[in-house]
Amino acid sequence: MNRTPFVGGNWKMNTDLESGLALLQSLSDQIGPSSPSSEVVVYPPFPYLMSLHQTMAQTITSVRLGAQDVSDQPNGAFTGEVSTEMLLDCGVRSVLVGHSERRHVIGECDALINAKTRRGLEAGLQVVLCVGETLEQREAGETDTINERQIRAGLQDVSAEAMSEVVIAYEPVWAIGTGRTASPDDAQKAHAHIRAVLSSLYDDRLAGQVRVIYGGSVKSSNAAELFSCPDIDGGLIGGASLKAEEFAKIIRATG
Ligand code: PEP
Repeated sequence: MNRTPFVGGNWKMNTDLESGLALLQSLSDQIGPSSPSSEVVVYPPFPYLMSLHQTMAQTITSVRLGAQDVSDQPNGAFTGEVSTEMLLDCGVRSVLVGHSERRHVIGECDALINAKTRRGLEAGLQVVLCVGETLEQREAGETDTINERQIRAGLQDVSAEAMSEVVIAYEPVWAIGTGRTASPDDAQKAHAHIRAVLSSLYDDRLAGQVRVIYGGSVKSSNAAELFSCPDIDGGLIGGASLKAEEFAKIIRATG
């Protein structure tokens, strides 16, 4: 199955305007005018999206713009929230939903994550749905059960047609920002199970088309081995996406 690799750079609550613009420019210089063979999306903080969009519109074609979160509501009295329409105005084409920091630090539940997924898809955005187990759950042998529950809940009422705009990011919570990475074998097993869940929710053909990417302390030194696994279609990168040269090496590792 031919799936275009996907590499996302999750900047989290890092950079300021100046360093964010410089990071994007330097990334674009590193990867050249057209991205090798993969889809590359960066997810900067909300306040910088418009400036980055304006910069990209002028000169950068190899990288697309994403947002780290989105409201499940269209508009109205939701202080602090950011809607799909606002993101579209800023040139955003992709959103992260259910990132582990939003699930486990901010306390988002599966129902809210599903509502955000559906809202994003209805607005025409690509949705990167993040799932993954905690260390405790892994040690209890619950990795597949947790991934399955989060995928079934996250994709509830998402049609097969809408799935062409869904990317699944498997990110074991214990591997995010810790320097610990799942072994390629363990990651491949989790990804194969995720694809089996997609098959049972939709069908084999669709499951074979959805990109399932890995996240959790990916670096240029471990990216190629992870990305060579048959069910790993790229990565969601946090810390290493803040260094243009390192991130560009990770992008090249998909090739
Ligand atoms: C992430 O933020 O999704 C992530 C995987 O972070 P890191 O690469 O720093 O572990």
